[in-house]
Amino acid sequence: MLFGTHISAAGGVDKAPINAHKFLCECYQFFSRSPQGGKAPELSAEIIKKFKANNKKFGFKDFYIHAPYYINLASLDNKIYYGSISVLKEELERGSLLGAQYLMTHLGSAKEMETTLAIKKVALGIEKILTGYNGKTEFLIEISAGAGKIMGDSFEEIKLILDNINLAARKKVGVCFDTAHAFASGYDLRDKKTVTKVFDVFDKTIGLKKLKLIHLNDSKAGLGSHTDRHAHLGDGQIGLAGFKALLADKRLQKINFILETPTEAGMLKDIEWLKKTRGI
Ligand SMILES: [Zn+2]
Ligand SMILES: [Zn+2]
Repeated sequence: MLFGTHISAAGGVDKAPINAHKFLCECYQFFSRSPQGGKAPELSAEIIKKFKANNKKFGFKDFYIHAPYYINLASLDNKIYYGSISVLKEELERGSLLGAQYLMTHLGSAKEMETTLAIKKVALGIEKILTGYNGKTEFLIEISAGAGKIMGDSFEEIKLILDNINLAARKKVGVCFDTAHAFASGYDLRDKKTVTKVFDVFDKTIGLKKLKLIHLNDSKAGLGSHTDRHAHLGDGQIGLAGFKALLADKRLQKINFILETPTEAGMLKDIEWLKKTRGI
């Protein structure tokens, strides 16, 4: 169980480990390209070398890439759909060059499309991304808060998506659990009893073997509100008792946790609290 935060890679990916060290991280996450759009900056041999040297210097072995926000694998617009597939393929290859363990992505919104069709479309997109891919970086579906018709907001829906992916590709797909998103999607995480239940249900529906990473965020928005608003730990509606229960859950001891909380000062406080609370 390692703790880290989402880190800025402004000025080049080789700066990410330096920033992660400043934030007292034990693992970290970053964008390898602008989350808003545009071509990915080149990963030259020189940059990769610097990146790896900085990781070694600060002792980082675990780091992850978050896909850009404009990804939509449920879009009826072919330009967006195939554009998303090609960006995710690129990010997996870039992650492999850097040695990242995981690439997590939001799936996008089905908008006017019927849900069963959208599930098939997302699954087919993931199949296209992973067919022929043999890199090191694993592909993770991130659970969403489910605003509008954003896909992947329930364990059942993620399971249906997985079931629609062919076996060879499905083996390469894992899940990233985000506490704020899950809470907004109706999964109560406020105490030991509810946390135990949520991961029982996860295990029964998807299987805990698929759980690879957790985004640790409190939620400004209420249970089942389908609103994605992160808060610092203890500063939202989940509360510290819920996070204590998560850290203490025996099934999660080998999982790493990434904070995506709003401010830099608050993030430092969050990570200090996590380190203090681990193992209790
Ligand atoms: Zn995310
Ligand atoms: Zn979020």
